[in-house]
Amino acid sequence: MTDVILTLNAGSSSLKAGLYALENQRAGELLARFHLSAIGPDAALAITIGDKSEHRIVDAKDSDAAWPVLLEVITSALAGKTLRAVGHRVVHGGADYAAPIIVSETIRAQLETLTPLAPLHEPYNLAGIDYAGARWPDALQIACFDTGFHRSQPAKAQRFALPHRYFDQGVLRYGFHGLSYEFIASQMSSVMDGHPAERVIIAHLGSGVSMCALRDGVSVATTMGFTALAGLPMSTRCGDIDPGVLLYLQEVEGMSAADLAHLLHKESGLKGLSGMTGDMRALETSEKPRAKEAVEYFVYRCQREIGSLAAALGGLDAVIFTAGIGENSPSVRAQIANGLEWLGAKLDPERNAEGGPKISQPTSRVTLWSIRTDEEAMLAKHAANCLARETST
Ligand code: ADP
Repeated sequence: MTDVILTLNAGSSSLKAGLYALENQRAGELLARFHLSAIGPDAALAITIGDKSEHRIVDAKDSDAAWPVLLEVITSALAGKTLRAVGHRVVHGGADYAAPIIVSETIRAQLETLTPLAPLHEPYNLAGIDYAGARWPDALQIACFDTGFHRSQPAKAQRFALPHRYFDQGVLRYGFHGLSYEFIASQMSSVMDGHPAERVIIAHLGSGVSMCALRDGVSVATTMGFTALAGLPMSTRCGDIDPGVLLYLQEVEGMSAADLAHLLHKESGLKGLSGMTGDMRALETSEKPRAKEAVEYFVYRCQREIGSLAAALGGLDAVIFTAGIGENSPSVRAQIANGLEWLGAKLDPERNAEGGPKISQPTSRVTLWSIRTDEEAMLAKHAANCLARETST
């Protein structure tokens, strides 16, 4: 029997899973991938096992209907294998959890209390723990937190200018996308091969968007905050907003907390600006002026945040683009990079069009990169490490 590790990355509209071989107590080869997307009556299920891929349309009207469908195909792929651990992406670890941890009933209950801080993510992450725990009771369930990577930040980077008691009760800038930043940080020395990397900004530009300033590979500042609404404009999330706007909308428009949550999470960002869609690829190919304006606004905010994070770092050696937009859109990378010449960054248009990884000119003082992120590989690595620690005690 081959020992394996499963990774689960669960959201409201998609479930992603990966099956990894466990070799010498480490996560090894990726054996299979499963992606259930567009959860609804005609959900899309993609299964890749080895070099064979299969696509099916399945009926999964909501995420409770989607889980059994996903678990069934994973169970088939597990034939002849022993599942030892499941690594779950859990968006919020709050003030108490940073390092990956084996989920007990007590920890599961504590994580549930963080749901109001990440209403779009935490319930789905916890459902994954419940479903996988019930299906594979002998496997360890391991939570890996997106907030964990940022707990290294100095207190001033984590504070809001509120009375101290709020910080003490956990109202602070947590930051997110930590698994992605950790993966990119783990790749920097091999990919950047001798280029200075003491002061680096990683731009995770996907449906969710954030940036992280790293000094010597450690997070010192990030754009997201208490929740994953803060910082840069995203697909449908607003990013930074004057808190006075929220007071205005409550007082003058009579909006409730639920109305505000819907507006800020679902109707804002690129979708709100364009009035069309939050999908960058669709905006880039649209001729509509509002689509162009939305992309320009996105680029402008990215440039401003890079300036702010470079100030937090006291200088800059490199900028790394990653995630759906950062890896796949030479045009957005070029528009952002063209505003960074004052920092000493010179884009190489040809290398950028080819996709990198290095996309700056040889004479560029600040180097520019496009590096593919892999949050699943990070989950597998953490799950294998937790399993090794547990079995050695
Ligand atoms: P998530 O994993 O958070 O759902 P992704 O990292 O997959 O998000 O990023 C999704 C975003 O990447 C979408 O806005 C999508 O349009 C954009 N994207 C993907 N491919 C391209 C491309 N070739 N050009 C421009 N944008 C792209």
